[in-house]
Amino acid sequence: MINLELPKKLRASANQAHQVAAHIFRPISRKYDLAEHEYPKELDTMAAMVEGLSDSGTQKISGATGGRADAADKGGNSNGGNMSALLNALETSWGDVGLMLSIPYQGLGNAAIAAVSTDEQLQRFGKVWAAMAITEPSFGSDSAAVSTTAVRDGDEWVLNGEKIFVTAGQRATHIVVWATVDKSKGRAAIKSFVVPRDAPGLSVARLEHKLGIRASDTAVLLLQDCRIPADNILGSPEVNVEKGFAGVMQTFDNTRPLVAAMAIGVARAALEELRHLLEGAGVEVSYDTPAMNQHAAAAEFLRMEADYEAAYLLALRAAWMADNKKPNSLEASMSKAKAGRTGTDVTLKAVELAGTLGYSENLLLEKWGRDSKILDIFEGTQQIQQLIVARRVLGKTSAELK
Ligand SMILES: Cc1cc2nc3c(=O)[nH]c(=O)nc-3n(C[C@H](O)[C@H](O)[C@H](O)COP(=O)(O)OP(=O)(O)OC[C@H]3O[C@@H](n4cnc5c(N)ncnc54)[C@H](O)[C@@H]3O)c2cc1C
Repeated sequence: MINLELPKKLRASANQAHQVAAHIFRPISRKYDLAEHEYPKELDTMAAMVEGLSDSGTQKISGATGGRADAADKGGNSNGGNMSALLNALETSWGDVGLMLSIPYQGLGNAAIAAVSTDEQLQRFGKVWAAMAITEPSFGSDSAAVSTTAVRDGDEWVLNGEKIFVTAGQRATHIVVWATVDKSKGRAAIKSFVVPRDAPGLSVARLEHKLGIRASDTAVLLLQDCRIPADNILGSPEVNVEKGFAGVMQTFDNTRPLVAAMAIGVARAALEELRHLLEGAGVEVSYDTPAMNQHAAAAEFLRMEADYEAAYLLALRAAWMADNKKPNSLEASMSKAKAGRTGTDVTLKAVELAGTLGYSENLLLEKWGRDSKILDIFEGTQQIQQLIVARRVLGKTSAELK
């Protein structure tokens, strides 16, 4: 029988994340939406808490770290780092997704490190704050088009290129950079490298002004003869043309369910606020009466709640598969596609149903409408997720279905 109850240990950590979201993030949510590029100093308190908890071996309270699974239970199931990170990302994003993306030591690069690092690298990079830098001025969706180069020089790699739209690109202590070690060998030569903030040749060119997630810094990074130690490459330095792109792409299997969780968290925030407003307006949402016999707003609410539940379960499945070492690329993309769409659909519909209240800055509904859009764009857009799902379901290669 399927047991959809969360394991006790995960419930405790998700509950802690919810407390952070409710008591630290929500009260400052509007403040940092309006004060774009200002560092949310309240996050320093959180950083100390995260550090303390990880030192004491307790589950992390927040964010996107991902990680290794714990030992399996009697039924052979592991609920480890991915599941825990997913629930925590969901809860903290319920509070504020821009702030969630700014939590120290919980960057998308951390999930990438957890997905592909060796045990030795995990020792070195397990506690850093890592942003993820794939996108360049010449491409976004087509991540095989990476043109940043990495050339081996003795005990070091020398990186050259420009990375744009890097979330936490200014604040993170490390950047996971995708670069090619041999452009002539195509996608198989694309590798990821951990670049420390103080590496010579790394600089921030500028910060972006954005529609949403304004509490999060989005940076343009320049790598000019940037030197890093040779063993900062994630995965094997060998170029295996047979294996193709699989090495770096594996990081998406961990990060996409996390971004899905962020969208689900924002959607839940909007649904809760909407339910409250509907109740205030005398609209009852009934679970005993068919939707078509209810107020139109209640029927919409039920439809959105069903979408929310479906997105939530798809994301849980993808994370569970990652923890249990099951190939989950299809499920990761399915969860990201469903959650990304549900996030924008639910938040904008909530703005619509709430009328002027939804559109004004008195509530956070309009902010959630703006914040949710990015979750359907980064780590692969809606269209790209659908393409990946179609390829997997139809058994087509990327050359056959573009
Ligand atoms: C706020 C923000 C934060 C970001 N953070 C990061 C980050 O931390 N790290 C990072 O590396 N990148 C980051 N990005 C970049 C993001 O990942 C890209 O914007 C995204 O991958 C889309 O790329 P693009 O913008 O170049 O759009 P394009 O690839 O040019 O796509 C434009 C449109 O065409 C569609 N499209 C493209 N190809 C196809 C196809 N084959 N079939 C059908 N439709 C297609 C897309 O879905 C999209 O709707 C961020 C972006 C933003 C806005």
